[in-house]
Amino acid sequence: MARPLIADIDLDALRHNYCLARDLAPHSRAVAVLKADAYGHGLVPCAKALADVAPALAVACIEEAEVLRAAGIETPIMLLEGFFEAAELERIDALGLWSAVHSAWQVDALLAYRPARPLPIWVKVDSGMHRLGFPPEQLAAQWARLAAADDRVCDLHLMSHFATADSVDPSYFQYQLDIVGAIADELGAPTCLANSPATLAWPEAHGAWNRPGVMLYGSDPLETASDVSRRLAAVMTLRSEVIALRELQAGELVGYGGRWRAARRSRIAVVAAGYGDGYDRHAEDGTPVLVNGQRCAIAGKVSMDMLTVDVTDVPDADIGSEVVLWGRASNGALLSVDEVARHCATISYTLLTGVLPRVPRRYHGG
Ligand SMILES: *Cc1c(COP(=O)(O)O)cnc(C)c1O
Repeated sequence: MARPLIADIDLDALRHNYCLARDLAPHSRAVAVLKADAYGHGLVPCAKALADVAPALAVACIEEAEVLRAAGIETPIMLLEGFFEAAELERIDALGLWSAVHSAWQVDALLAYRPARPLPIWVKVDSGMHRLGFPPEQLAAQWARLAAADDRVCDLHLMSHFATADSVDPSYFQYQLDIVGAIADELGAPTCLANSPATLAWPEAHGAWNRPGVMLYGSDPLETASDVSRRLAAVMTLRSEVIALRELQAGELVGYGGRWRAARRSRIAVVAAGYGDGYDRHAEDGTPVLVNGQRCAIAGKVSMDMLTVDVTDVPDADIGSEVVLWGRASNGALLSVDEVARHCATISYTLLTGVLPRVPRRYHGG
């Protein structure tokens, strides 16, 4: 028997979530964000599953785009951070990629390069995230330089990124949207603004294009769930099995540092999954886990290859019992990666992208 830890990927759920993002914004088109190995779900299988519904895909860098093209994917691909050096322009041209442009040196490089056909460009304005993008007062001048070079660039779109679209407090989101809206009106520019939370919660941010990412994988990015976000379906189920059981007396402890101590006679299940697989070592005692589809709690620190769960109240737990770290159990019970993330003082994004190559991915549907 092989080690039982597997990440099951439900490609039908991925398509369902994409179609939700699309249907929420009927006047926009949705770029499916597949950076970071499709948030840990596997770049090429996810791209193939979306090929006939998504008009474009987005990745963080040309290396990710090259993997998609090598796999025969011909859908337009957007580079969310553009190019990191001018030498990439030749490959962007050859592969027919769309590039973001966020800095003056990139505009200089574009204007110095003569592509085989004009390159579609997404001009990024910094509306308040203060990460990438031109300051609002510099945007119009850079836009004009690009617009004048229509033998080199085409299809100019205005891009920006929201810092707080997930928050129930709309004030900073509204501040950013007002800045982008004024620039878009002035230039008559089509926009590409909405990430997952804005796609779900802020229709006023929907533009010619949206850029949903984490919601495609079934994670709810909103601070408080909504009727719409509750329609998202989990894509990854991280599953394993019980590989050993321990009976403990009250007062006995479990694992490194003895962090967990039995308050009563307890039964502890040892599960084949650890931080060497990407399961977060910050998981506290009480982090939920499904054993035979029943909610149980982590007891003791996560080790590299194993973790320990209190199954005192699951009498049928045995060697080989199904364990779901997040996702859907065979009895239909669901444990969301968002809930697990809260117990690890992190967000679903780090848990999903953190599942290491040691964990085999097994694909279903699509
Ligand atoms: C990652 C990313 C997105 C998607 O964000 P989600 O919160 O996962 O929806 C959108 N735009 C840019 C520029 C990104 O880097």
